[in-house]
Amino acid sequence: MVEIRHLHKRFGAVEVLSDVSLTAETSKVLCLIGPSGSGKSTLLRCINFLERYEAGDVRVEGELVGYEERGGQRRLASGAKLRQQRRKIGMVFQQFNLWPHMTAIGNVADPLIRVRGFSKAQARERALAVLEKVGLAAKAASYPANLSGGQQQRVAIARALAMEPHLMLFDEPTSALDPELVGEVLQVMRALASEGMTMVVVTHEMGFAAGAADKIAFLDKGRIVQCGPPDILRKSDEPRLRQFLQTYH
Ligand code: ADP
Ligand code: MG
Repeated sequence: MVEIRHLHKRFGAVEVLSDVSLTAETSKVLCLIGPSGSGKSTLLRCINFLERYEAGDVRVEGELVGYEERGGQRRLASGAKLRQQRRKIGMVFQQFNLWPHMTAIGNVADPLIRVRGFSKAQARERALAVLEKVGLAAKAASYPANLSGGQQQRVAIARALAMEPHLMLFDEPTSALDPELVGEVLQVMRALASEGMTMVVVTHEMGFAAGAADKIAFLDKGRIVQCGPPDILRKSDEPRLRQFLQTYH
């Protein structure tokens, strides 16, 4: 589903991703872990071209993301091409970014109407079905201010799912939540994974990574230091990973 080859990304003089190669397989969960500033968000954002990259390839479903290649030359993809590529990819951020003046169902239906050209009735029907999936059908008419953080994040997940993405990217989706609200969001993500959604998840929830990931990549200083099955969390003797994990126990 996602194939990253020899990816390099710099901000000014600083290289924040150095020769990153990584794949995310269809219907599997890839978790990205690592210290703050190691490049996890930047890597995730390169997958839907929220960040440009200077060198290397990012391919989603075989197609180079963000660039068009003609006669060996690489040019920025057209806006239409980029929109078409992003359509396959849902993203959930740490901050939920819901519209405060719209109800839960309004937040989920709005992009369907604006981006997909759904009628209002069609959009609300789809939105309600997706809210049901995340356990929030009963809150469809509530405004974000009247929802808990966990509920708001589930609405944000529903909003992404309503677009029927082939791939879901999560950037620390539970980091802004009070501890008692983390579980309900992780539960929704686990259910999504068990239905076969392809997911790339940046997380500090090591329990989630250990239980739900098919593969874990550990980044440090812009490089993938180790990548493997979840049992690397228990078995790896890579010192940087061990040291990182110690800060979470
Ligand atoms: P993580 O998500 O692992 O905490 P990030 O991908 O956010 O790491 O950041 C990686 C590095 O890139 C950090 O050193 C950060 O300061 C830097 N960085 C991130 N975004 C920008 C930006 N827009 N401009 C300049 N530097 C940035
Ligand atoms: Mg980050």
